[in-house]
Amino acid sequence: MRALRQVLKDWEAVIGLEIHTELTACDTKMFCGCRISHDDAPNTNVCPVCLGMPGALPVPNVEAIRCIVMAGLATNCTIQRRSMFYRKHYFYPDMAKNYQTTQGPVAFCMHGHLDLRVAGEAALERPDDTAQKADDGSYLARIGILRIHMEEDAAKMVHVGGAEGRIGGATESLIDYNRCGTPLIELVTQPDLRTPEEARLFMEGLRQTWLALGISDCSLEQGSMRCDGNVSLRRRGEVCMGAKTELKNLNSFKALHDALAYEICRQAEVLESGGTVRQETRHWEPTRRRTTVMRVKETNDDYRFFPDPDLAPFDLSDEFVEECRARIPELPDAKRERYQRQWSVPTYDADRIAGDPALARLFEAAVARAGVAAAPMVANVVINLVPGHERLNEAQVASIAQLLAQDAVTFAQAREVLDVVDGTDDDPERVVDERGMRQSTDADALDAIVREVLARSEDQVRQYCEGNRKVLGYLVGQCMRAAGGSGNPKAFNRLLSERLETLQ
Ligand code: ADP
Ligand code: MG
Ligand code: ZN
Repeated sequence: MRALRQVLKDWEAVIGLEIHTELTACDTKMFCGCRISHDDAPNTNVCPVCLGMPGALPVPNVEAIRCIVMAGLATNCTIQRRSMFYRKHYFYPDMAKNYQTTQGPVAFCMHGHLDLRVAGEAALERPDDTAQKADDGSYLARIGILRIHMEEDAAKMVHVGGAEGRIGGATESLIDYNRCGTPLIELVTQPDLRTPEEARLFMEGLRQTWLALGISDCSLEQGSMRCDGNVSLRRRGEVCMGAKTELKNLNSFKALHDALAYEICRQAEVLESGGTVRQETRHWEPTRRRTTVMRVKETNDDYRFFPDPDLAPFDLSDEFVEECRARIPELPDAKRERYQRQWSVPTYDADRIAGDPALARLFEAAVARAGVAAAPMVANVVINLVPGHERLNEAQVASIAQLLAQDAVTFAQAREVLDVVDGTDDDPERVVDERGMRQSTDADALDAIVREVLARSEDQVRQYCEGNRKVLGYLVGQCMRAAGGSGNPKAFNRLLSERLETLQ
């Protein structure tokens, strides 16, 4: 098959995502009082409602509805003041009622969007003529959101004895109803995505938003966030959309990207050899790196959708919506922008921190202590030194960032100090002084050492002047030794370079 970038020169990919997120932040299920947990023994969190006993009546979970309204507001959706629950019928053991309670044509949240900034490698998948690209090759893409609706999760089935846990070839199937009835929101995008990278960025951006709202743990591995990808191709310049396939089992960002890339190339091959793409559901096999047919697409008619007579139409008051709006914290885009503009944090670092609520909390608390001028160094510490440690508090992060900013310790030493204070309340500065690690930044003292080392290193100085820049490392080492390990290599490097330049 041809490579993706080649294919995308001739064909335009049209991609839409359907993203399910379990509202794991809720204490109880969508229509009953059963607890939500990923860890309890199978079939222990169940009751007549979520087991679908005849006559059991559902009661909607207001906390879950608060979560979906916050999700809608955070993604620029219109919040529908009146919407309804529907029954979607199907026969399968993972839903004992034989129907899933979901929403009809009008969902709680309609017609929103998220903006993607596509930069660097990710921007290369999109041919230049289809996006307005900035000088650095990056571009902005606004991705429409059709709707976000409320529904309930099905039970979890475990197929034993087959390959990759699939039902084909399995000898038995086990079922756990703990998950059945967990509140689930489904977001459906417009078919506005054009490359696998855009799809991945959308999913990442959405996950960051949900995490900031605190509505879910968004674990792709545990399945609390799941994505289906729909994709079709059309000739460049064509307006009508082609037949699409729907991809399942995209349970990592890499799987999402790779499955779409594979499928785009596969469809191109089918179309280029005169065939037609069949509308079907396909399964991504990560180990074999291909998609295979699961089933030909069922239509909505097959589900016999109708309004659930057990649930009255749902009316949201203005007060309720405003209460939800008030609960929305600063979102990742706004945070990133603030870190960059007000605190001069580099783009990449601002991106990483703003997207992770736990890192962002630690970062902001540490900046509050270390001062805004130290913010770029605090960001550096939070990204490069904090991971790999169990528990560091903001005071420790602030203190080590200040020591680094003053060149009082090297990065390697900072890591060593954090290893020592990790899990304690110890002050890194005290450890540095106690162990005599503090490096002299006294310019006169360092300069004297530099002059002394240069005076006795004629050979190396000559080599340097002849263009051999590698001897600089040797000279820094000599200075460090002369300083008894208390000098700062960065400072020596700078002083040596300055002096050597004057000798040229
Ligand atoms: P279905 O009824 O097959 O589930 P929907 O109309 O509900 O299809 O759309 C499901 C998803 O597929 C949405 O994200 C939508 O944007 C996307 N989609 C719809 N038509 C196409 C197409 N021709 N090519 C790619 N994606 C599409
Ligand atoms: Mg669908
Ligand atoms: Zn229950």
